[in-house]
Amino acid sequence: ISQFLQPLTVLLRFIEQYQQGMAGFRRFVELMDTEPEIADKKGAIELKNVKGDIEFDNVTFSYDNKREVLSGINLKIKHGETVAIVGPSGAGKTTLLSLIPRFYEIDAGSIKIDGIDIRDVKLSSLRENIGIVQQDVFLFSGTIKENIAYGKLDASDEEIINAAKAANAHDFIMELKDGYDTYIGERGVKLSGGQKQRISIARMFLKNPPILILDEATSSLDNKSESIIQQSIENLSKNRTTLIIAHRLGTIRNAKRIIVLTENGIEEEGTHEELMKRKGVYYNLYNYQQENWTIE
Ligand code: ADP
Ligand code: MG
Repeated sequence: ISQFLQPLTVLLRFIEQYQQGMAGFRRFVELMDTEPEIADKKGAIELKNVKGDIEFDNVTFSYDNKREVLSGINLKIKHGETVAIVGPSGAGKTTLLSLIPRFYEIDAGSIKIDGIDIRDVKLSSLRENIGIVQQDVFLFSGTIKENIAYGKLDASDEEIINAAKAANAHDFIMELKDGYDTYIGERGVKLSGGQKQRISIARMFLKNPPILILDEATSSLDNKSESIIQQSIENLSKNRTTLIIAHRLGTIRNAKRIIVLTENGIEEEGTHEELMKRKGVYYNLYNYQQENWTIE
């Protein structure tokens, strides 16, 4: 090429490199944006004597600042109420509930507990008032007793046993060779999925939070453990605001309030009977599940 063009190609290459650099930088900023440091704001307050009213007001949320997983969600839950949330996989059920303990920052709207915006509350105080039973129960290597006491580190033996009884875990624990001192985890006794869930429910009886969030396990349990767990969850939800993501619709047939969440937001709401009569999303999910056992 001519001598004249050479500096131009050098310049073009330089511009290209600069743009790549900018793109890299932008990608870095985006990554930073998706994992925001959630910190207490100045003057954040402690929640005191929480009743457990929860209000979502026009809540919009996106993980990547591109696709809105939730948009314009409005939802009011009264203290002491139990609400079941159902919907197809990927609808945003887990996301919706993870916004209450503020695992992620919302993009618009507000979430309030007893009328107080959760962004005005100390994170530690917010999370002390919320109990979470996750899909995959987290148990550590240690004794059964230690694993239950995780819900309240200074719990007495009596409190631990009462919590286990309330969670329908006491009987199976007593059948293990060392009872409450039985070692579980990697080198200890392996518990079934249903037993692990009951341990985590026992933890919640000890923690005794006014607000409870449950993400029901998707793995199918045998009928007997399922009804035992259902019973324990019913006991646990008494006198607290409870939000439960139900994967097996059979477990929430008696729920007074069922919310159906889809990609379009909250599509339907009502009791099992009301929703069946509507012949809408819930009706289809229910009939689908009768044939296919579980949905996610
Ligand atoms: P559900 O619990 O109803 O199955 P989720 O709340 O888990 O739905 O997911 C809703 C949407 O958000 C899905 O498209 C999912 O891929 C996406 N999502 C969930 N968790 C994350 C995450 N940590 N980062 C990015 N996207 C996520
Ligand atoms: Mg989920």
